[in-house]
Amino acid sequence: MFSQVVKQDIQEITNAMLKSKKVRLLIQREDLNNPYCMGNKWWKLRFNLIEAVRQNHRTILTFGGAFSNHIAATASACNKLGLKSIGIIRGYFTDKLNSTLIKVKNEGMQLQFVDRETYRNKSNVDWKSIYGDCYLIPEGGTNELAVKSCEEMVSFKDFDIVCVPLGTGGTLSGVIRSLKPSQVAIGFSSLKGGEFLNDEVKKYVNTSNWSIQSDYHFGGYAKVSQELVTFMNEFKRDFSIQLEPVYTAKMLYGIFDMIENNNFPPNSTILAVHTGGLQGIEGMNQLLQSKEWKID
Ligand SMILES: *Cc1c(COP(=O)(O)O)cnc(C)c1O
Repeated sequence: MFSQVVKQDIQEITNAMLKSKKVRLLIQREDLNNPYCMGNKWWKLRFNLIEAVRQNHRTILTFGGAFSNHIAATASACNKLGLKSIGIIRGYFTDKLNSTLIKVKNEGMQLQFVDRETYRNKSNVDWKSIYGDCYLIPEGGTNELAVKSCEEMVSFKDFDIVCVPLGTGGTLSGVIRSLKPSQVAIGFSSLKGGEFLNDEVKKYVNTSNWSIQSDYHFGGYAKVSQELVTFMNEFKRDFSIQLEPVYTAKMLYGIFDMIENNNFPPNSTILAVHTGGLQGIEGMNQLLQSKEWKID
């Protein structure tokens, strides 16, 4: 499961706008890296699950929202490794499970739904007294082992700027640690008010060749607009790459917009990491039905 990346591709995309701005845009296809546990979540779980097994834990307990890619990845990886998994899920109290939760349940994850208040205070709860011995992985999967693993994610070195989407900032932190001094990293925040992520990233890195771009959250975490859905569908049509609406579509929209507005010097090479997350599309399309928009 974690012995090697199954597939890692760099794909250059091009169109008239990119040509006229003389900017090269490469997409690192981490959405192809592992069929069971996709994208940056494979990288973030890798050293944690290896460590859990090394410490002879049989159960992994972690936290997330009802559509969480981290929950989905944890359930699949634990299933493959023969570990038991427990997911503490934030504020979801309808009888009908969404597509993410159906999938993780089928993979053996035990689900515990908690209200938003309990969820917020999760670090004060003694989960081991409730569920017995287990290896705890924080919400979103970010800790030192996750960051350390992400240091190896970008092995291709021939770029000036690397872009990654941001949730908790763990992936960006690992990528920053792997940069040469002449390179810069930009994290595209998927959340409104993502400026606090500066401090999160500083917990893990002490260089300054990086920044956070907070202009492309589209109203907040997991919020989408018709414009974003149209962008994703056109991106897929033009480049045959599937994006998802929470992270990667917002980042690519932002990169295109910044290139158009001359934020990158001519002859720059930008590497954008497609961090995966495609399992979330089905659930988002269920939510979008009432609006009659659809992610192709
Ligand atoms: C979780 C996730 C992110 C955010 O990663 P962080 O390490 O939490 O910043 C980005 N992209 C996708 C597709 C994700 O699933």
